[in-house]
Amino acid sequence: MPIAFITGITGQDGSYLTELLLAKGYTVHGSVRRTSSLDRSRLHHLYTNPEIYSQRLFLHYADLDDVTNLRRLLLKVAPDEIYHLAGQSHVGLSFEIPESTCDDTAMGTLRILEILRDLPGKPHFFHAASSEIFGSPDSYPQNESTPFRPVSPYGCAKAFAANMVRVYRDSFGMHATNGIMYNHESPRRGENFVTQKVCQAAAAIKLGLQSKLRMGDTSAERDWGDARDFVHAMWLSMQRDVADDYIIATGITHKVQDIVEIAFDYVNLDWKNFIESDPRFMRPADPKMLVGDASHAQKALGWKPTITFQKMIQEMTQASLNQLSSKSRANKNPVQD
Ligand code: NDP
Repeated sequence: MPIAFITGITGQDGSYLTELLLAKGYTVHGSVRRTSSLDRSRLHHLYTNPEIYSQRLFLHYADLDDVTNLRRLLLKVAPDEIYHLAGQSHVGLSFEIPESTCDDTAMGTLRILEILRDLPGKPHFFHAASSEIFGSPDSYPQNESTPFRPVSPYGCAKAFAANMVRVYRDSFGMHATNGIMYNHESPRRGENFVTQKVCQAAAAIKLGLQSKLRMGDTSAERDWGDARDFVHAMWLSMQRDVADDYIIATGITHKVQDIVEIAFDYVNLDWKNFIESDPRFMRPADPKMLVGDASHAQKALGWKPTITFQKMIQEMTQASLNQLSSKSRANKNPVQD
């Protein structure tokens, strides 16, 4: 039975990847950071399943800056595959907390690479790089040879980490792979990302729980895919004998405005009555024309996206409707002691 180790297991991608690997027969170990609450909502269904948790799924406390603990853990678990997904994942927020973003994302990756040099088993290593390393590129679509020109602290940190993965692969022969991932979403996306913000607002307005949605620039374009497709690409990349870099993207861009129209249309509301423009949500330096050419991943891994943008936004909106409805039912009928 193969053994996988996931940093960032509690996140959107970590939770889907855990499900995928468990379904493929893996034993999965994940590192979590200490928080004041044990509520790991994206893993709740696995964490509370006695046939899975502590049988084939194990969580361990480990911080990305605690090298001694990480080293001990990786030696003990002896994984065949390591998926390094942990890190502050919000581009806009990285302007507010640049130092911790860079420490976790850039130095955190380097620390793991250093540990890997000494591991006896030589596990395959996947690094969650980002299209933000390209920043404002001169050309599009971008591929694995496009120069890195990041325009945010997040992009700089990911660029450093992705370069280190290349250096360690070339210098030490490590099986270290960069998945250069474009934006990917799902019903498990964090609430401060624009897709989720819009889908949740459309649902809340439909249910009478919110009246308006304030937005930044809705003409901004991105190449948005679905997280479930993307974790499949991560796994495929780890099955190859050779390590490489892969653009993981749909190759199709949509505007923020498209999210608004699909989500509000799904709940039968006219978006024009509910959207207000707010300059506070404009980004300091918004990268333009980020669209990926995933032909290398398609050819080498046999990967291609399967879930359309429209279906994903509709599913996210429906998930928000379900969640908000059950919350408001619970508020109306509180459990009595
Ligand atoms: P999420 O924000 O949903 O999850 C991030 C994970 O990292 C969580 O498990 C979080 O733990 C953990 N984490 C954050 N900071 C730290 C830290 N300092 N130490 C240890 N763990 C930490 O992100 P996604 O799942 O969407 O993304 C996974 C990875 O892929 C990230 O590295 C992200 O930057 C990258 N990526 C994502 C893209 C996307 O569109 N989703 C696009 C390109 C790259 P906790 O639950 O405790 O907060």
